[in-house]
Amino acid sequence: MSQMRFNAIEEAQKREPIKIPTTTTRISELYGENVFNQDSMREYLTEQAYKSVQEATYEGKRIDRKVADQVASAMKDWALAKGATHYTHWFQPLTGATAEKHDAFFQPIEGGRAIDQFEGSLLVQQEPDASSFPNGGIRNTFEARGYTAWDPSSPAFVMGTTLCIPTIFISYTGEALDYKMPLLKALSAVDEAATDVCQYFDKNVTKVNATLGWEQEYFLVDKSLYHARPDLSTTGRVLVGHYPAKGQQLDDHYFGSIPDRAMAFMRDYEQESLKLGIPVTTRHNEVAPNQFECAPVFEETNLANDHNLLLMDVLEKVARKHNFRVLFHEKPFAGLNGSGKHNNWSLATNTGVNLLSPGKNPKSNLQFLTFFVNTIKAICDNADILRASIASASNDHRLGANEAPPAIISVFIGSQLTEMLDKLEKNIKSGKMTPEDKTELKLNIGKIPQILLDNTDRNRTSPFAFTGNKFEFRAVGSAANCSSSMIALNTIVAKQLRLFKTAVDKRISGGTKKDEAILKELQKLIIESKKIRFEGNGYGDEWVKEAEKRGLSNLKNTPRALAAMVDKNTIQLFEELNVLSSVELHARHEIELENYIMKLQIEARILGDICFNYIIPAAIKYQTQLVENVEGIMDIMSEKEAKGITSAQRDLITEISKRFTSIKKNVEDMIEERRKANLIEDMEKRAIAYCDKVKPYFDEIKYDADKLEMLVADEYWPLPKLREMLFAN
Ligand code: ADP
Ligand code: MG
Repeated sequence: MSQMRFNAIEEAQKREPIKIPTTTTRISELYGENVFNQDSMREYLTEQAYKSVQEATYEGKRIDRKVADQVASAMKDWALAKGATHYTHWFQPLTGATAEKHDAFFQPIEGGRAIDQFEGSLLVQQEPDASSFPNGGIRNTFEARGYTAWDPSSPAFVMGTTLCIPTIFISYTGEALDYKMPLLKALSAVDEAATDVCQYFDKNVTKVNATLGWEQEYFLVDKSLYHARPDLSTTGRVLVGHYPAKGQQLDDHYFGSIPDRAMAFMRDYEQESLKLGIPVTTRHNEVAPNQFECAPVFEETNLANDHNLLLMDVLEKVARKHNFRVLFHEKPFAGLNGSGKHNNWSLATNTGVNLLSPGKNPKSNLQFLTFFVNTIKAICDNADILRASIASASNDHRLGANEAPPAIISVFIGSQLTEMLDKLEKNIKSGKMTPEDKTELKLNIGKIPQILLDNTDRNRTSPFAFTGNKFEFRAVGSAANCSSSMIALNTIVAKQLRLFKTAVDKRISGGTKKDEAILKELQKLIIESKKIRFEGNGYGDEWVKEAEKRGLSNLKNTPRALAAMVDKNTIQLFEELNVLSSVELHARHEIELENYIMKLQIEARILGDICFNYIIPAAIKYQTQLVENVEGIMDIMSEKEAKGITSAQRDLITEISKRFTSIKKNVEDMIEERRKANLIEDMEKRAIAYCDKVKPYFDEIKYDADKLEMLVADEYWPLPKLREMLFAN
């Protein structure tokens, strides 16, 4: 066995779970320990400043500069007491990760002394030298001016020895360069539109929050094995590797007992997360070996998303401490289940009502139906926008594969609710409704809570499923920033709710009673959005055909899916709702395409390296041994005898040559296609060339490489095998 592979496996196998100190504090007491939350604010802020921050958080009011000074000073004192020495504006550039630039509180002053200082102006706004973050041509690099601005609706926190202040990131000219700014705008759009619609049912509703409960899936791999695989450590996935004899066929990892080392890791990251105010509650094994999931209690979307990004950061840091590497890639191992990040989404009012949860009486159920049906209609009309929001090079491997939601966007609601919508569709008469009609309808609508109680069918194959009191968007990738999908979803729902309000108001002003106007409009929406509803098996080939008949899109790869971002209708919609401008959408489109190209480019390069530096040399080495063996036999035997007993070796020698010759040719052809693609000026066309011309070589090369893995003696094989990566720790 190659020394590298041998050492890696040995190290991984020797490792023990790392003991984490058992805290004497109860978990509930750890919660929020490192967050500048309401309790800390009460302790450190004046009454006026406290009130001001509360209003900024819950009503979006501006914070006065003077008050900002007070808040900054209090935040600093609190952070210093927690052992912080630096502060940073924490933001979400379009690279997908989070970014920070640390500055010290420490300020030298005259007389060789120093003080700790943090002013309101530094809290509110910063100008990081962030010229190398993607901006899609918005910001000329020489200007290098991007601002970060404080988002008071997400509390500051201390991580390590740094006070982190959640911020938005915008260009000098005001365009968003991040995910947070458009997310806040989308959330405000859906708040406004939903609050308006709520007035039909309850005048006390003055605010509607979109809620998000994400479920994060990931893989753990031992550090040494990770580093012994150049493909995994540079791209986040293995590009070659034969499927292990035992993979996930037995489903024995799913909900099984968690291995000790992983368990120690989990207890550790959970403690860290809780201190940061991330309300993680669930942990379990996933289907594939070494795959796990973690989920928190849902929160307001902006906060939930910050918490997801923070959790990913915590997972990465804690994993290192435990000699693991955490993989967020959507498909690290071909043939094994990929990872997703289910986005559970709903709308909650300031009066404490979940708008997607049926109530106790027909009136609140009509409200439920309103939001339920409008959401479905929004998805139906804007499926391509939603599809674009989850498109990435890595998620392409998962969408449409056998275990993940298909690339076709559809909505699953369960058989009972389907029946209910079918009834509504038929029962609402086109003319004036008689009192009897209305009574019957009310009776039907009144039955909804009962329906949901029995509604146990859970379709795992649907990309967008109703699960009793929320929708679950399952096609989101595990590595993604949830903002992308949440911007899309909340914006299209906001738009649909606006349309609904206008249509119902029109019916009312035409003389129709409110309830009837709502019902009739819902009926119309039910009919118009029927094609997006699908209850069957989303993994089946029949669905692909059926979806095509229905006229639903099936955008199988990222460059094609992204086109919807700059479609005329998308631009109009996002501009109308003031979420993203045409310039911003075009910039984002460009950035996404570029990300796609770069990811494929890196994969192609590393695949070539692995073939030439590891696989072909190993194959030749083993082949040489075979040749020596044949020669040796020929030396001691007659030609005729030797021929007979060396035929297997000769076959192997030929077969090995055939495979590596094919690999060599494919790698060279792939390089040529890359060269051609790189010459294409237009970013979209270049991305399509990478998708159609370069990427197909990956599978071809992997096919031969995996055959060689089976042929070459184990002792010569240089790369840790999948069974070792997945089961050695
Ligand atoms: P499953 O794995 O079966 O999909 P889980 O219980 O693991 O279900 O996850 C359910 C997720 O849904 C949790 O993250 C939870 O916080 C979230 N959730 C529950 N209610 C809501 C809601 N009203 N809005 C948003 N998310 C919610
Ligand atoms: Mg789920």
